[in-house]
Amino acid sequence: MKTELPVNNPIKSFWLTAEDEFATYRTKGELPQETDIIIIGSGYAGSTLAYYLYENDKTAKKSILMLEARNVCSGATARNGGHLKPDLYSQYKYFKSKYGEKGAAEIINFEHSHLKAVKEVVEKEKIDCDFVLTRACDVHLSSQSGKSSIENYYEMIKNPYVTCKDDVQITFGEAAKVISKVEDSSVCLTYTAGQLWPYKLMTALLKKVVSKGLNLQTNTPVLKVDRLENGKYLVETSRGKVITEKVIYATNGYTAAIEPKFENKIVPIKGACSHIISSDPKIRTPHLTNTYGIRYKGADTDYLINRPDGSVIVGGAKKHIFPFKEVFYNNVDDSTLIEGTKEYFDDYMKKMFYTWKDFKATTDYVWSGILGYSDDTVPYVGEMLEEKNKFVIAGFHGHGMPRVLLSAKALAKLINGSSDLLDIPSAFKITKDRMENTKNNLLEMLGTIPKSKL
Ligand SMILES: Cc1cc2nc3c(=O)[nH]c(=O)nc-3n(C[C@H](O)[C@H](O)[C@H](O)COP(=O)(O)OP(=O)(O)OC[C@H]3O[C@@H](n4cnc5c(N)ncnc54)[C@H](O)[C@@H]3O)c2cc1C
Repeated sequence: MKTELPVNNPIKSFWLTAEDEFATYRTKGELPQETDIIIIGSGYAGSTLAYYLYENDKTAKKSILMLEARNVCSGATARNGGHLKPDLYSQYKYFKSKYGEKGAAEIINFEHSHLKAVKEVVEKEKIDCDFVLTRACDVHLSSQSGKSSIENYYEMIKNPYVTCKDDVQITFGEAAKVISKVEDSSVCLTYTAGQLWPYKLMTALLKKVVSKGLNLQTNTPVLKVDRLENGKYLVETSRGKVITEKVIYATNGYTAAIEPKFENKIVPIKGACSHIISSDPKIRTPHLTNTYGIRYKGADTDYLINRPDGSVIVGGAKKHIFPFKEVFYNNVDDSTLIEGTKEYFDDYMKKMFYTWKDFKATTDYVWSGILGYSDDTVPYVGEMLEEKNKFVIAGFHGHGMPRVLLSAKALAKLINGSSDLLDIPSAFKITKDRMENTKNNLLEMLGTIPKSKL
């Protein structure tokens, strides 16, 4: 089945309660006939790329057009868990076997450096986006998940190239239960992480670059991109055609809809998230200072942040998703809820945390969102092979918060010519080998059961 464009009636997430008139912003009534640079997509990748392009004097003088299929930043970035959590160990053995010690360390160090980088942008630009620097707590609720994490952690700390290994602490037994507040967890791992309101951060950055000259056009889906004989690109939208010298796909889960080379390589995966509040606005929630990764068996995980206003964002509910291919795989429909997820989140807090046991909570928002899973679990960032001036920054595999910002910064430098090197983990780069030889075994990885065996 071919990947589709974003649907035009997505469910409203909690984060989108911050929408204002900027949601449907169009710099001008008409599209230009020609421009220097087109960025397709206004999510985390498109917004931060535009931000870094405008930081450079040379590109700031260029004409840059951003085309967004729906309202501004209404994709995964406005529907996620708000969790800025580098993965410092859980995929370590897989990364080491695939990319060697140095390659695995590059990914871990890169993700960890996002904590400082995101904080710096928030503080430099004075953006009110509820950014909190804290510690993540990974809780393991099956012996399989605990065993795998312990093994990955002890392997990771042997790697001489990982510069942030001291940030991770492993705790066992009673102490793990007290630190995590989860009775059934006999091991937990903690490390520095952040949480924020991603939509507020991205729209603040976009407003900034719009004031510097970005031509932002919302509700303008790109339908097709063709390379012209002179090397420029003809970008066809629902509102007309634009010629551009450079084009960047910041389209994450939707990339294959307009770039068939990513069909079966970046797959739209439908996920679910919720917002939970105190049932009585006069009573504060029993605040959890950590953010959480809650790991059951295999790919079955939940994630959670307790926000500074006391409310909680919980995402996951993968028990209701990953076994059923038709529910989530290659599915761009974020206009409907996934069956069972509302009920799953309703009693979540009291079942999971002993400090919430007697607390009355209400789930006031549940939504779905589209993640861009890549065939080898890492994003595709860089210039397309044999297609000069066509760039991609997509496929963040449900884990974009600690990967997008510095990928966008490095890509901006490549695009504006201030660097020939793309300073990102080698594993993220677009290579012939990745494009031609990666085997997509996502369904197996996610534990999806063929219908015949259900
Ligand atoms: C439910 C859910 C929970 C998540 N939780 C977390 C989390 O807690 N932590 C974490 O690190 N990551 C999380 N993620 C993943 C994270 O949100 C993404 O990796 C990140 O937001 C990707 O940003 P992006 O800009 O690449 O994609 P998006 O935000 O999806 O932006 C892509 C944009 O491109 C637009 N677009 C697509 N095709 C076209 C077209 N043809 N023409 C014009 N515009 C187009 C879309 O409308 C969209 O606005 C979650 C994702 C979801 C869905």
